[in-house]
Amino acid sequence: MSSSYVCDLAPAHIRAIAPYQPGKPIAELARELGLAELSIVKLASNENPLGPSPRGLGAAQEALQDAARYPDGSGHELKTALVRQFGVRAEQIVLGSGSNDVLDLAARAFLAPGRSAVYAQHAFAVYALATQAMGAVGIEAPARNYGHDLAAMRAAVREDTRIVFIANPNNPTGTLLSNADLEAFLREMPASVLVVLDEAYTEYLAEESRSRAVEWLARFPNLIVTRTFSKAYGLAGLRVGYALAHAAVADLMNRVRLPFNVTSPALAAAAAALGDTDFLARSYALNAAGRRQLTDGFGQLGLEYLPSYGNFVAVKVGDGMTVFHRLLRKGVIVRPVNNYGMPEYLRVSVGLANENQRFLEALAEALRP
Ligand SMILES: *Cc1c(COP(=O)(O)O)cnc(C)c1O
Repeated sequence: MSSSYVCDLAPAHIRAIAPYQPGKPIAELARELGLAELSIVKLASNENPLGPSPRGLGAAQEALQDAARYPDGSGHELKTALVRQFGVRAEQIVLGSGSNDVLDLAARAFLAPGRSAVYAQHAFAVYALATQAMGAVGIEAPARNYGHDLAAMRAAVREDTRIVFIANPNNPTGTLLSNADLEAFLREMPASVLVVLDEAYTEYLAEESRSRAVEWLARFPNLIVTRTFSKAYGLAGLRVGYALAHAAVADLMNRVRLPFNVTSPALAAAAAALGDTDFLARSYALNAAGRRQLTDGFGQLGLEYLPSYGNFVAVKVGDGMTVFHRLLRKGVIVRPVNNYGMPEYLRVSVGLANENQRFLEALAEALRP
């Protein structure tokens, strides 16, 4: 029996999936270049340059003592913290191994062959992945100025559409939709379509653009809001995210959730990090300053960039792949976004001031003919 025969056993919709391209790990580049890991700057995965929330880290370390036991499968402690923070009921919460897991749970609960999901051009890659894995049809609505075009998304919705995925802010473009536009979109969406509002970067928004999505849950039973501890809370490696939704929707998503999908250190860390307001404020301030440092630098280099509401910026560099490889040789890892239909751009995460500086200097050299 040949190995190609075994591969043919997977359904066609699985074989058609293009693998997710993660940021290059520091250890891998260090091995390739024969460099010390410490000399490498990674600004490729929108991670928190401050490291993990100290309160989260402490709680995770303590939880490790109990590693022989299964985690609390209901996530009671974390749900209690979320209930306190958001004024929702525990029945409205779905916990996931990162919010990617929660996005996938939404797809598993509501998509199937013969159904479709709508998402925007240049939107986060996981929406297409989760849709395809269910054998459902993915419909990509054209973007406008690299941002979600809600009118185009509304027009793309078909009879068989069950999910519309929206990233706000979006990764990799950093674009933001206003509360007013989103609320109008929800009002006109048929009740048969779930709107998954992915707010992975919401903690980085300034006061005046803060999301009001949680307030809308009471009015729109077809709304699913997803958030994560991977970005502003600095817990990407522990993998915790959550969805807030109508209790009946959360119930369906929880039925397809595997038992113990979130580890005990992750649950404990997330519950503690949620109250780490000092850390959140520091992350916010560092990000705002670092984003300005990057965009000022791009201005000085005469480069166009997409104004960003996240902890990253997409910058137009010409041939993105070539510049990406030149930066790698200088020990700087960023993210090429040709797989997002943006071959002229690179996405760079906001780092510490010295990391941003290293990147800008390396970029200036990489762009020299
Ligand atoms: C980083 C990111 C996530 C979060 O992923 P986790 O699985 O929570 O680590 C979700 N959505 C978008 C758009 C992201 O960029």
